[in-house]
Amino acid sequence: MEVSWEELEGRCFSCNRCPLHKTRTNVVIGVGNRESDVLFVGEGPGYHEDMQGEPFVGAAGQLLDKMLAAINFDRKSIYIGNIVKCRPPNNRDPLPEEQKACIDHLRYQFLLIRPKIIVCLGRIAAQAIIKPDFRITKERGIWFEKKNCHIIATYHPSALLRDETKKRSTWEDMQAIRRKYDELKKNEMENEKNE
Ligand code: SF4
Repeated sequence: MEVSWEELEGRCFSCNRCPLHKTRTNVVIGVGNRESDVLFVGEGPGYHEDMQGEPFVGAAGQLLDKMLAAINFDRKSIYIGNIVKCRPPNNRDPLPEEQKACIDHLRYQFLLIRPKIIVCLGRIAAQAIIKPDFRITKERGIWFEKKNCHIIATYHPSALLRDETKKRSTWEDMQAIRRKYDELKKNEMENEKNE
């Protein structure tokens, strides 16, 4: 189905498909390069994100910026979105029915961006995008493939703020993401040369 960014924004800003619309200040659609090959997906907006209408702007967002900078990415080179676009009260996990109600918006974002790599930040995103029984401690850092897209999960930055011991494996995942991106770019350039 054809959809434009304007249509997607219109749908999201007027969305009342789940009860989270009643308590939101802003609908947080996403931020970054809409033509990027890399899409990062978190769980949902927190307090600061809800206030500012932008994903990952609080402490977890600042850490995400550092994680991106460590592999030579920034908010202008990737796109960042969330599983749900409105803040769950008290930063609780989004409920399955809220995720189900919101997932179409993310599907449209996917169709518009057409990323080659998706990075799931945390269990909620991985279970929604990779598989419902995804176990973040056991399966983070493993590449999955769906619809020609390479998908990996790593810890959510807020989990790293709570538990520093997760930083080492997250760093390994970030390096794997950079390697996959470079490999895809190299293949792309070689294919163009051979055409
Ligand atoms: S969370 Fe998603 S489905 Fe629920 S009201 Fe917000 S935009 Fe709509």
